[in-house]
Amino acid sequence: MKFNFKIVISILLIITVSIFILFIIKKNINVNQNKNSVLKIVERNKFNMTSKKVLLNNGVEMPIIGLGTWQLTGNVVENSVYTAIKNGYRLIDTAYWYGNEENVGASVRRAISDGLVTRKELFITTKLPPYGFSDYEKAIDDCNERLGLGYIDLMLIHQSGSDEKKLYRAIENKIDEGVVKTLGISNYYTKEAFDDITSDAKIMPAVIQNENHIYYNDKEFQEYVGKYGIIIESYYPLGGRGHTNDSLNNDIINNIAKKYNKTPAEIILRWHIQSMFIVIPGSSNENHIKENINIFDFELTDEEMNRINILNTGKRYENW
Ligand code: NAP
Repeated sequence: MKFNFKIVISILLIITVSIFILFIIKKNINVNQNKNSVLKIVERNKFNMTSKKVLLNNGVEMPIIGLGTWQLTGNVVENSVYTAIKNGYRLIDTAYWYGNEENVGASVRRAISDGLVTRKELFITTKLPPYGFSDYEKAIDDCNERLGLGYIDLMLIHQSGSDEKKLYRAIENKIDEGVVKTLGISNYYTKEAFDDITSDAKIMPAVIQNENHIYYNDKEFQEYVGKYGIIIESYYPLGGRGHTNDSLNNDIINNIAKKYNKTPAEIILRWHIQSMFIVIPGSSNENHIKENINIFDFELTDEEMNRINILNTGKRYENW
């Protein structure tokens, strides 16, 4: 039989193209099924100002205000966490990078053993960077061990990085095992970055923790991820350490504060939760900790919300 080189090449080409097309279709079906499955939950995730919680796209309830613990260590963070829980906070935000997971865990255990709260009522977030580890499932187990609270309510990928897909997969696996309850990402600001990290996700993120404050909040991005029922959690809610005066001294904020007999911090934090952003102001000052959760006895009007919304400059303080 005469060997026809052209026919063989054509057949090989057709097979390769078909396999490629099938691969793309399968990948899209998986992602779309996954994305569609969270769409129906979107209408449910309104902020409940009485329970101070929101229902996430995975069916878990998350408190809408918490304590941030960046730059707080040792006794300082232990006292802050205890004070926060004593004053009604149920969400605590820590991270591997903050070097304070053990202190946060110890303080939470003390609050539980003193009868202030139960483990189930609390929501503990930690974060891992997507680089520097050879085994991400072990890295998550180590966070869990340092915290010593049985499980992690929310595990965030701290920022993008070379191993982000590996860490994503590890969090998904730890959700299957019950070590982690909810998956989230942090410092993802563009549609492209979001689409990339979720391109072959089995579980969509429920929360994106980003820099977000009166001078930076990206409505277009919020709407894009909002289609999947994803909630934005604001870090630097008061502008962040070193920048809080920009926010707290703002004239519009101060005028509104006078009207309600509230502090500028309370007005800003109320604006966050009325915008459906979870907030985690950081503080080691007992009076500030008490003040920051005192935001459920008044409501900003639509006009006041708009006056604050237009302060957005579209510029972040950080570029990580
Ligand atoms: P922030 O909450 O915007 O600001 C914290 C600063 O505000 C502190 O200096 C605090 O000082 C002051 N403050 C708090 N309440 C106040 C009040 N009522 N009146 C006046 N000043 C007040 O910034 P942040 O702590 O950097 O961010 C919040 C949390 O987000 C962090 O703690 C951390 O958990 C998280 N975070 C995450 C990332 C990320 O990459 N995912 C990055 C940064 C932060 P006092 O201690 O004196 O109250």
